[in-house]
Amino acid sequence: MRCPVCGGLEDKVIDSRTAEDGRSIRRRRACLSCGRRFTTFERVEELSLLVAKRSGHKEPFDRSKIVSGVKSAVKNRPVTPDQIEALAADIEDVLRSEGPEVSSQKVGKMVLDHLRDLDEVGYLRFVSVYKGFADVKDFEREFSYLTKDTEPKKPKA
Ligand SMILES: [Zn+2]
Repeated sequence: MRCPVCGGLEDKVIDSRTAEDGRSIRRRRACLSCGRRFTTFERVEELSLLVAKRSGHKEPFDRSKIVSGVKSAVKNRPVTPDQIEALAADIEDVLRSEGPEVSSQKVGKMVLDHLRDLDEVGYLRFVSVYKGFADVKDFEREFSYLTKDTEPKKPKA
């Protein structure tokens, strides 16, 4: 490990103990060149989760993208940041259990399913962006599916 003071690469470990409830190992090291002591942490590498796009391009899963997408969909709606975080965390858990690679369609579908339960208006906003409806008929079809259990709107008088 490179010494943060002199840049020397030789050191010896003088102390080693678990930290963060066993999720990491903390090591005290002494530089063999300048004698300066410093600390390193060793952790299990987070298992990667890849999202495959329709184009074939793959990118690491990024929970913050779900959070920001949902956030803009539920703008001015009675949805709290905690609810959005919980939604994104739930989705990530499921995706990780199915990983190491998932399709972007799968991710989008899961966001839709969760958002539908959380906030109907936010769901509809998200749908219009995510599915990129070609015309308003598609959107109305989706909308009528959602509202099939309610009374149809009366035409304006
Ligand atoms: Zn040094």
